[in-house]
Formats: sequence, structure tokens, C-alpha cells
Amino acid sequence: MTEISPQPSMVVRHGDKRYPSLSRGFNQRWIAKPEYVRLVRSPGEVRDALAQAVRETPKDPARTRITVRSGGHCYENFVCGDDVRVIFDVSPMCEMYFDPEMNAYCVEAGASNWHAYSHLYPATGRALPGGSCYSVGLGGHITGGGYGLLSRQFGLTVDYLYAVEVAVVGQDRSVELVLARRDDGDPDRKALWWAHTGGGGGNFGIITRFWFRDLPEPPSTVLLTGLAWDWKDFTKGDFTQLLTSFGSYFHDHQDPSTAAGKLFGILVLNHVCNGQIGLLAQVDVDDVAGHTAMKEFLAKVDGSISPEATTMRTPMGERPTVAHLKIPRVMPWLTATQTLNGSGEDQCGKYKSAYIRRPFDSRQIDAMWACLGKERFTDYTNKQSVIQIDSYGSAVNRPPRDTAAGQRDSILKMQYQVYWTRNDPQEAEYLAWIRETYSSTFADTGGVPVAGGGNTDGCYINYPDVDLSDPRWNRSDQSWSTLYYKDAYPRLQRVKRRWDPLNVFRNVQSVRPPNLD
Ligand SMILES: Cc1cc2nc3c(=O)[nH]c(=O)nc-3n(C[C@H](O)[C@H](O)[C@H](O)COP(=O)(O)OP(=O)(O)OC[C@H]3O[C@@H](n4cnc5c(N)ncnc54)[C@H](O)[C@@H]3O)c2cc1C
Repeated sequence: MTEISPQPSMVVRHGDKRYPSLSRGFNQRWIAKPEYVRLVRSPGEVRDALAQAVRETPKDPARTRITVRSGGHCYENFVCGDDVRVIFDVSPMCEMYFDPEMNAYCVEAGASNWHAYSHLYPATGRALPGGSCYSVGLGGHITGGGYGLLSRQFGLTVDYLYAVEVAVVGQDRSVELVLARRDDGDPDRKALWWAHTGGGGGNFGIITRFWFRDLPEPPSTVLLTGLAWDWKDFTKGDFTQLLTSFGSYFHDHQDPSTAAGKLFGILVLNHVCNGQIGLLAQVDVDDVAGHTAMKEFLAKVDGSISPEATTMRTPMGERPTVAHLKIPRVMPWLTATQTLNGSGEDQCGKYKSAYIRRPFDSRQIDAMWACLGKERFTDYTNKQSVIQIDSYGSAVNRPPRDTAAGQRDSILKMQYQVYWTRNDPQEAEYLAWIRETYSSTFADTGGVPVAGGGNTDGCYINYPDVDLSDPRWNRSDQSWSTLYYKDAYPRLQRVKRRWDPLNVFRNVQSVRPPNLD
């Protein structure tokens, strides 16, 4: 007779084989030592387990935080900090289905981009316009206003969010599951829905389910290209022209009903030690103008510089090497999405972000040129040091909508990234590179891309950066909360006071109840 193994415990403590894996996420910089990790399989289980967790007395007064994890891709230590007592892991809740009662697609909070593309799309023909890395979890991704290669065509994931279910802790420590809808008659519940349209994860409670209405149908086929130029061929004039052409193309094409307005481009400025600068672009070719749009885009960007385009030879930041796409290729949308899936290995990483509203000015370009190894950091050797510039706007900037994702007139979104292996003795050097590079790009505005100033509009909460709270790196007159949320922060604080009055869900850059700010 076959022996049936007992169901493994949903509570993982020190000594359990799973504990080392479940005490960390994607970014290997952050490893927690929680009393336990609580895996949860249903909204009811979340409610009961959270009620139990908030009644417990911490064994260690230095570890008191309760945190929540979906895909584990948080850049900072918001989930796996030293002060964490309990991690709620919602990843067992990863179903996606049409819910006739809600007349909406239900997405459980532990699902990932992979589930959205590989499960939701084949069954329904619909997609979330989210990120291309399959392992990113939707619990954090959506709540921060997740975007991806379909976003210039269709907008942000949160633009389709109809409802959210959250387990919240009241003033008396009682726990309830709240269903909050976009058209909720109750203003407090409607405000809770709104706070999940860009307010960021880990702030108000444990999200168990999302519902989406009118999700878009991605194109059947797209044209995808990936090419590179060798750094050795670049003069400063070429570099300036490349950044100017890329910026002005997206500045000039902001109508999502046109093929050019749907086209998504990613420029990957590696440090010179990598050897190459990369470019990726995708456009809908169900639209008959798609081929022309790609041709014109490449003529504008590649055609404006003297270095000759070649094939990609190396991975670029989080992007895989796509060596076979120098000549644009038509492929099914899902195949293209799989081609660009760049989750890669789990490493240590540090990240920074910027929303850009108009093409770069010459001082910003000069600073990037210098810090990418042309004038400063000339002996630097970390090949995974990148300034990634994504196209943005178009459908994202369609007016007017009431979401907490407030940056709605940007044309580009920047992501500074550096990666290394845990215990690399040169970690301090890598951190210095990213901090100095970012700080000098935005030197005219206190080292950060201030909201509503010049050509910048703050930072992306899904690319959190604790340096924004540090006066050595943020010398502007805007706090971290203004940089992420612009003028929406006081409204988020009111939601916090109503739905998490005890500040159970907190981290160094979480929304604070007004009395604690
Ligand atoms: C390789 C990589 C690629 C990326 N690509 C993109 C991209 O293309 N587009 C883009 O927009 N972003 C991208 N991101 C950023 C990504 O959107 C954020 O890191 C996102 O917050 C990750 O969500 P997660 O659930 O995986 O992370 P987690 O670490 O699990 O959570 C992130 C935050 O959300 C909170 N949270 C998670 N689940 C819940 C829940 N159920 N209830 C309440 N709070 C919760 C956590 O407490 C934490 O504060 C990328 C990140 C990585 C590492």
C-alpha cells in the first residue's frame, strides 16, 4: 500500500526545510529571521491566521512587524527586514477565473505575471497590461500601479481594477475581510479600493483577491526587435543624439490609437564595462501601420547615430540576451512576452527610478555619459550596472481617472539598477556607483527627480528606494512620500487611519497614519 504523506504544515518555523527559502525573496540582500512564515490558501484562512498573529506577543521585542509577500520581488527590506516577526505568504492563492457574480475577472493575490500570461490569456484572450518578468507577484505589482510592454497601448493594470478584497485589523485588533469596489456606495470602502490603485503594497492589510473589468485583448501578433551598439563606437555626440532621439520619439507619439502610440521601447544604457548599449522594441502588427511605425522608430533612433547596430551579446540588467532579433520578427504576442521574460537568477540588487515628462536636458545627458564610465567610474567593473529607460505614457496618460498612481503625463520611466552576488566584497562600490549616477543626473533638483519640476515627476513606488528618505541623497524640498505619491499622500494617510489605525502593516516607507507622521 502506498503511504500517504501528511499535509505539510502551513506554518514554517526555524528548523523546517523550507525556512531558509521562505525567509527571503528575490533580492538576496534581505534575509529575515521571522518567528514563522504563514502560508495561506484562502481568504478565510488569511482572516483567521491574521487574527491569531495580531493577538500573539512577540518573543523578541526587536522583531514585531507582520509583513505580506506575494511574489517576493520587493526591492527594499519591506518584507524581509531584521525586525520582521511574521511573514504572510499568499503565493498558494494563485487562481484566476471569471467571477459571474462580480461580472469581473478574479485574480488571487498570490498569482504572478506568469499566471496572468500563461493561464488567464489562453483561457480568456484577455491580459493585464503588466510587467514582462514572469516571477513578479501580482500582490505587490498591481497595488503599486504595475505597467509593462502593453501599457502604452492599454494603460496601467490598475486602470482596470474594479474591486479588491483585503483582510484588515481594526482599532480593537479584530480582523475582517473587506470587499472594496470602484463604485462602492460606502465612501470608506471606495477609498480603500482607490488606495490599491497605486498606493503600493504592504500598507493597509493583506490583499486576498483582485477583480478586473474590461481587461484588454492583447494583439494576436507583434513585431519584436532587440539590437545593440558597441560602446567603443560612441562619441559623446552620438550618445547625446541617441538619448535625444529616443526621448523625442516618445514625446511626439502619445496617441494610443496610432501604431506609433502603441509602440513600446526600452533603451538599456549599460556601464561601458559591459561593452554594449541595448534597445528593445515591440509594436502591435494587428494594426496595419505597425510595421511602418517600427521602421520609423528605428530610423529615428538607430538612424540618427553613427555606431552601427549589431546583435546583443550580453544580458542587460534584468533583460535576457536576445541575440536573434536584430532584424525585427513577427511573432505571436505570448511568444514575444516569453522571449522578453527576464526574471533571471536571484541576486542582490539596488534600484532607483524616475518619471520623465520631456526629453532629457543636456546636463542630465552629460551626467549619464560621465557616470557610465566615460569620465567617472572608469575603473569600475560591474557589467550589470544599468540605466534602463522605458517608454511610457500614451494610454497611461489618458485623462482623467481617479487612481493613486498620479504620474499621468510622463513619456519615459527610468530605472537605475545594479546587481551583484551576496557577500561580494565590492558591494560598497556598486552602491556608490548607483547613488552617484542617480544623484548627478538629477543634481539640479537636489539629487532626485522632483515631482512636477523641470522634466521630472517623482519616483515609482514599485521601484522603492530608501535613499529617498536620506538627506544625504535627497537634498530636495520633497519628501519620499511626495516623490512617490505627489499630492495623493494625505488622502492615502486618511485611508490608513481608517483601515489600519494601529499601523500593523508598516515598513520604512509605508503610508503613515496622520498622527504618526
Ligand atoms: C525582475 C523584476 C522585474 C520587474 N519588472 C517590472 C515591470 O516590468 N513593471 C513594473 O511595474 N514593475 C516591475 N517590477 C517591480 C515590481 O512590480 C515590484 O517589485 C512589485 O512590488 C513586486 O511584487 P511582488 O508581489 O513580487 O513582491 P513582494 O516582495 O511580495 O511584495 C512587494 C510589496 O507589496 C506588498 N504585498 C505583496 N503582496 C501583498 C498582499 N497580498 N497584500 C498586501 N501587500 C502585499 C509587500 O508587503 C511589499 O511591500 C519588477 C521587479 C523585479 C524584481
